[in-house]
Amino acid sequence: MITQYLRITTYFLISFTVASYLWYHLGGANKEFVITFQNATFKNIDDTSQGGTTKSKIDYDNNSLTLSCSIENTARWPFCEVAIELTEGIKGIDLSQYHSIGLDIDYDSAVSNERVRVYLRNYDPAYSDKNDPVSSKFNAIEFAPGRGNGLHVIPMQAFQVLSWWIADYKVPIEQSGPQFDNVTIIEVATGSNVKSGSYTIKLNKVVFFGDWVSESALLRLNILLWMITAITFLGLERWRLRCNLKVVEQRTKQLRTANQKLYKKSLAFEALAFKDPLTGTKNRRAVESWLHDILEYSRDNNQPFSLLYLDIDHFKLINDSYGHHKGDEILQEFAKLVNQRIRKSDVFVRWGGEEFIIFCPGTALLGAMGLGELLRSITENYLWCDDLVITCSIGVAELEGSESFESLIQRADSALYKAKKYGRNRVEA
Ligand code: GH3
Ligand code: MG
Ligand code: MG
Repeated sequence: MITQYLRITTYFLISFTVASYLWYHLGGANKEFVITFQNATFKNIDDTSQGGTTKSKIDYDNNSLTLSCSIENTARWPFCEVAIELTEGIKGIDLSQYHSIGLDIDYDSAVSNERVRVYLRNYDPAYSDKNDPVSSKFNAIEFAPGRGNGLHVIPMQAFQVLSWWIADYKVPIEQSGPQFDNVTIIEVATGSNVKSGSYTIKLNKVVFFGDWVSESALLRLNILLWMITAITFLGLERWRLRCNLKVVEQRTKQLRTANQKLYKKSLAFEALAFKDPLTGTKNRRAVESWLHDILEYSRDNNQPFSLLYLDIDHFKLINDSYGHHKGDEILQEFAKLVNQRIRKSDVFVRWGGEEFIIFCPGTALLGAMGLGELLRSITENYLWCDDLVITCSIGVAELEGSESFESLIQRADSALYKAKKYGRNRVEA
């Protein structure tokens, strides 16, 4: 999902980057500010204000104007000019966004290849006084426009601030550079040191060229977009991984609890597998490995080990007379009786049917006989349900030397057989 979005966004960004650069280099960002009769006021100024005798006038054509002057070398600095007022008062126009000025001027002068002066006058309260028109900064260029040469495009960087103005107004060095952020007047004047004679300055076009965005701004925008996208996707990816991790953790937790449950169940099943379901005593399987170990231990350490083989007398008869269910109850009761009497170290096992075995580690034959006799007597004297008289026969044997378990149980079985043979309800060794 995220990768799909990433792919789409990447395609979009590549397209945007390529398109924006094409657009920029094909001139899509270009902007122009053309001075017209509608957005500016044109005036002729000459040295009569400074005591000179130069005469000047403006004639208007369809799209152009012509300043005609008859310069007379009577003033200290004779001149005539067209003053283009962009606004009234001190609030000018911000031309700092433009990189060039275009000037289409036809200049007829007394001397060939005469130059005109162009001033962009910038008002700034830091150094200007609104009652003193000369206090606006003189951003100046001087060039020879000739006649019929069309548009001269001059970079704004070519403008310089007149040094006499800096000196007269004691402008601090940090404010003495070219400045175009509040241009109130554009002046196109005859060149410095003009000779007497007649001059005409025909203004065909004054235009400023700029870009809506600079190339570096476009570059910054593109870098920003790529960075935002990268950061967003990294963030999203991080968030997605964290979510996935949470899901995995949750699943692991669930699996762990499920495993624990299964483990507990399997333990329960294992316990069941080693237990006789009717009497709750151990079954043969439960003691298999224990028997192997305890016999080995007893043999190796010369410890006595005895077993009692118990068999309920005439149990078939009980079943036949009182039903299988009653037989079950008696088996349960019998197991409980024995369990109460044996020692902790003795191990009581239902060996099969109505036959049980008690393993007595650390017990010699005599002790085992004693226990057998006790159990026999208890069984006989117990108050069984329905006033039944239940007895059991017990065969006892003690482990001898290095004999096998099979041999030991065989001897106990023989002893039990003997007990049955001699009339039951007996203990034989
Ligand atoms: P003996 O005195 O010679 O031991 O005679 P017996 O009847 O006890 O011996 P036998 O081996 O002939 O019969 C054992 C009977 O025990 C046979 C069987 O029906 C019964 N029995 C074995 N397991 C169970 C059981 O789990 N429940 C019940 N109710 N009876 C069982
Ligand atoms: Mg039997
Ligand atoms: Mg029996």
